[in-house]
Amino acid sequence: MISVVVPVFNESANLSALWSRLRPVLEGLGRPWEALFVDDGSSDGSLEMLRAMAAANDGRVRVVELARNFGQHAAILAGFRQVRGDVIVTLDADLQNPPEEIPRLIAAIDAGNDVVGGWREERQDESWRKYASRMHNRLTSVIVGVPMHDYGCMLRAYRRHIVDTVVDCDEKAAFVPALANSFAKRVTEIRVAHAERAEGKSKYNLLRLATLSLNLITGFSLLPIQALSLAGIGIFILDAILVTLLVLHRLIFGPQQEGALWLLFAVLFVFVGLEFLAFGLIGEYVGRIYIEVRRRPTYLVRGVYGGAKTERAANDDGGSQRNYPNDPAGRQ
Ligand code: UDP
Ligand code: MG
Repeated sequence: MISVVVPVFNESANLSALWSRLRPVLEGLGRPWEALFVDDGSSDGSLEMLRAMAAANDGRVRVVELARNFGQHAAILAGFRQVRGDVIVTLDADLQNPPEEIPRLIAAIDAGNDVVGGWREERQDESWRKYASRMHNRLTSVIVGVPMHDYGCMLRAYRRHIVDTVVDCDEKAAFVPALANSFAKRVTEIRVAHAERAEGKSKYNLLRLATLSLNLITGFSLLPIQALSLAGIGIFILDAILVTLLVLHRLIFGPQQEGALWLLFAVLFVFVGLEFLAFGLIGEYVGRIYIEVRRRPTYLVRGVYGGAKTERAANDDGGSQRNYPNDPAGRQ
């Protein structure tokens, strides 16, 4: 079964056009499907339209209403928690992602991939967005360790176990594509078309995008904290060079009047370096606590082959201490 998850925030102008293109694609798949719309606190009548769509398509269209606007990624997570399919596709509601690409994403999953990302090679957005996004993709590729051209494209497909793991992480500032990639064995990208936004304006401004990037960096690496320790070491090295130069200068030219001042500098920088190192060290411990409280699974077991499961192995869920069948959050 294929589940399509669509986050919706004030998209009333796009919803009927979206559905008239999405529905034939889903019906043409030749497999069971469901569409899950997540209303992310819309105030423009989107919710009412979605509910009418759900009523007209008994059971195959469902709507999750969030209590207020929580952001695109939170909305997708809320949808992920309700999905029933084995393959989950995410899609934007503004028709920038053509629904007609969905069969190609599914074919790539069928070919054995856990995650398939869309790559908007010809992106139809403002130029500052394209530039920012190029930097963002390079950074994300390094931090997550899975290189991709387009982490921002939300036309993506995931296997169910990836979605379950992402939901179980229950992260407060989740960046869904990056999190999903960190749990996938086989990830691929396919080129997808990209259109201009059909109606309405982008919900992202520079500030919201910067927040998203910062979340990503701090959510996936201790790099900012480790940079402090590195700065400390750098200061020590520079200071050692300074001291060597001072000693040489004194040996060659003899004592100078301003020598005392330089000595003061050299001593001062020892302490500055020490301070940076101390911050970095504290940061390292804080970072470890952060990794622990985040409770991402250390590993994921997909199967145990040969012989019966031992008691211990039966309970193994990678340390996340949650078992899907008893999920208190009401997943079906
Ligand atoms: N969206 C959402 N909540 C938000 C912002 C956006 O659910 O707080 C949805 C929006 O309705 C759309 C998708 O996320 O379906 C992508 O948003 P948008 O088109 O504004 O982003 P862009 O294409 O400019 O990156
Ligand atoms: Mg858009």
